[in-house]
Amino acid sequence: MPRLSSLEDLERLYATQGALTYGEGVSQIEHALQCAILAQEDGAPPSLIIAALLHDVGHLFEVAEDVARFEVDDRHQSTGADALRGLFDEAVCGPIALHVAAKRYLCCKEAGYHAALSFASQASLKLQGGPFDADQAAAFERLPYWREAVTLRRYDDIGKRDEMSAHAFADFMPVMRELLIDKAKA
Ligand code: FE
Ligand code: FE
Repeated sequence: MPRLSSLEDLERLYATQGALTYGEGVSQIEHALQCAILAQEDGAPPSLIIAALLHDVGHLFEVAEDVARFEVDDRHQSTGADALRGLFDEAVCGPIALHVAAKRYLCCKEAGYHAALSFASQASLKLQGGPFDADQAAAFERLPYWREAVTLRRYDDIGKRDEMSAHAFADFMPVMRELLIDKAKA
């Protein structure tokens, strides 16, 4: 299982793998930056801004040809959260681990949510188990960071615009440094 041992590792991963796409019109790095900026503009706390930035890091460990084939559930939300657990606490990793569950939750709770999802999100939803039923939705609401995961999901769903963001991954390094569990891992 991939594990990141420093911010430098993380920066290198986005620099080398960030150009990947995954069935959406935008690259991973562009999607990451747009989500982080949406969180920032929304006044989200630093932990949620960084969760938004890194929520799809699990996709960056995938082999390019496997991305967005929509044949198996890649479980990128777990791979990503686990890879980050040595660097950040649950305020960052929790919402990341739940961002797919949040989509299944919103499909259950919100009329029109499913129809508004991108083609790639609808395709992956089927592999991820489809919309939650009422019991699953109630269980989701008992998990720590479920609200943050739902908020993150909103950024995720709109952070797929064509335009290029005026930001770079490096712009978020100071915030990430602040949030490190162990400052020696900068
Ligand atoms: Fe994702
Ligand atoms: Fe995403």
